[in-house]
Amino acid sequence: LVEVRGLRKAFSGTDVLRGVDLSAGEGTATVLLGPSGSGKTTVLRSLNVLETPDAGRVRIADAEVDFDAPARDRGARRREVAALRSRSGMVFQSHHLFPHKTVLGNLLEGPVQVQGRSVDEATADARRLLEQVGLGGREDAYPAQLSGGQQQRVGIARALALQPQVVLLDEPTSALDPELVSEVLAVIRDLAATGWTMLIVTHEVRFARDVADQVLFLDEGVIAERGGAEVLTDPQHERTKQFLRRVL
Ligand code: ATP
Repeated sequence: LVEVRGLRKAFSGTDVLRGVDLSAGEGTATVLLGPSGSGKTTVLRSLNVLETPDAGRVRIADAEVDFDAPARDRGARRREVAALRSRSGMVFQSHHLFPHKTVLGNLLEGPVQVQGRSVDEATADARRLLEQVGLGGREDAYPAQLSGGQQQRVGIARALALQPQVVLLDEPTSALDPELVSEVLAVIRDLAATGWTMLIVTHEVRFARDVADQVLFLDEGVIAERGGAEVLTDPQHERTKQFLRRVL
């Protein structure tokens, strides 16, 4: 479902991604791990084209952008990027909810204003998603009336409300107070179990072990080790071993 080939990105002359290849199958959870600055966030942001890669190809489902090939014209590239972007939903470290909108209002914004879906249909979907993230009945609350963990669960539901093919989660619990982390991780685990395709950047190794069908260990802009959850319990690469020793 997701395929990335030869992804490269430099920021002001410094290579951050130096040729990243990855694939993720439909319904799988992929965890991206690695030291701070290894490029994990940049990989996710490239999939969503929040960063424009310098080189490489990104495909999600039927949408593909080949950053190696010049687009026919600016309009063509813009349309390709818009199509690719619409295939993924992003969950950020902090939720970026609209403070003046209710929970339901936040969930309807994308589907109704951007995707042009009917309010009735989007509302029914939003209510179902709120149930799934454990917030049934809170649709009329404002973000400020919710705990940080609840706000982040709304952030997750909002990403899902766009009906993306893949959900990209960038350290979804790193901005939370420690006691709120587990409720958000539990929701992500449930969603993975119900078949959402997910790419997750996280430092929560125990969670990663529970949820991951695939583990990618990123080091200095390349994937240094990849495999199933055994990468976390029986790493082969010296850098992976070092990293896990530090975080466990
Ligand atoms: P962390 O775990 O700390 O979030 P990461 O593995 O997600 O790290 P990235 O956020 O992808 O790493 O960043 C990789 C490198 O690229 C870092 O050195 C960072 O400072 C740099 N970088 C990222 N985004 C930008 C940007 N927009 N402009 C300049 N440098 C950037």
